[in-house]
Amino acid sequence: MSRWALVTGAARGIGRAIADAFQRRGWQVIGWDRQPPAGPRPAWTFMAVDVADAAAVAASMDAVARHTPRLHALVNNAAVQLAKPLVATTPEEWDALMAVNLRGPFVVSRAAYPLLRAAGDAAVVHVASVHALATSANIAAYAASKGGLLALTRAMAIEWAPAGIRVNAVLPGAVDTAMLRAGLQRGHLQADAVEAQLAELARRTVLGRVGAPEDIAAAVLFLADPSQSAFMTGHGLVVDGGATIRLSTE
Ligand code: NAD
Repeated sequence: MSRWALVTGAARGIGRAIADAFQRRGWQVIGWDRQPPAGPRPAWTFMAVDVADAAAVAASMDAVARHTPRLHALVNNAAVQLAKPLVATTPEEWDALMAVNLRGPFVVSRAAYPLLRAAGDAAVVHVASVHALATSANIAAYAASKGGLLALTRAMAIEWAPAGIRVNAVLPGAVDTAMLRAGLQRGHLQADAVEAQLAELARRTVLGRVGAPEDIAAAVLFLADPSQSAFMTGHGLVVDGGATIRLSTE
């Protein structure tokens, strides 16, 4: 019997790599995004959904239920980044970011619960960030949303264990995507050109490189697969090339 995965933010970047990786492993995949998939036509089912819109999420989950009565994996990956000082961040911008990054995973997970419970051995994987653990200037709303997502991971893991649902998070470091490249304008690196900024980021990791979306997809697949990670729940798995293990004061 096929295993089914729902991945949010699947149109590009890390979410696309996750959806493609599940599909290549033989899973049936449904990808949600508010924009159509970029690049080659995906070999999985796409649905246009804005995870900040709770009514749209509910209607779209009904559509998922018409494809499958069971979901074995839910990956909450969709997010937006806001790179500006806290005093320049308006309450409306804060709310709009939280509606996607923190309320989104809550709303989607809540709507998916009956399908996840029906699977018997389902897994939720939230894509958080190393900004949940350590951060820098001009990214406060994003960092707060990811810290909240890590707390939500633990709370959901406790509440949903009796339903046979494990809940974990992946905390990526710098991964080469459109979001990372846009965030480079934050001014925290010395170089001007994007490629030079990426090279500087790579030098700051222990492994000497920026991550690829596939690096994160591999960790998500591990946490989604009960034959690999059956005894893990409530965990935040850092996948950052060692970026957060080195003391910045040394
Ligand atoms: P990205 O911007 O390249 O892709 C994000 C995708 O999410 C896009 O396709 C976008 O359309 C979609 N999305 C955004 N808002 C949405 C909404 N309201 N409803 C539905 N879809 C929506 O970003 P990425 O770098 O691939 O990031 C993916 C995840 O990884 C995010 O949760 C991000 O916070 C996290 N992350 C990324 C990095 C990095 O360096 N790239 C580092 C740490 C964490």
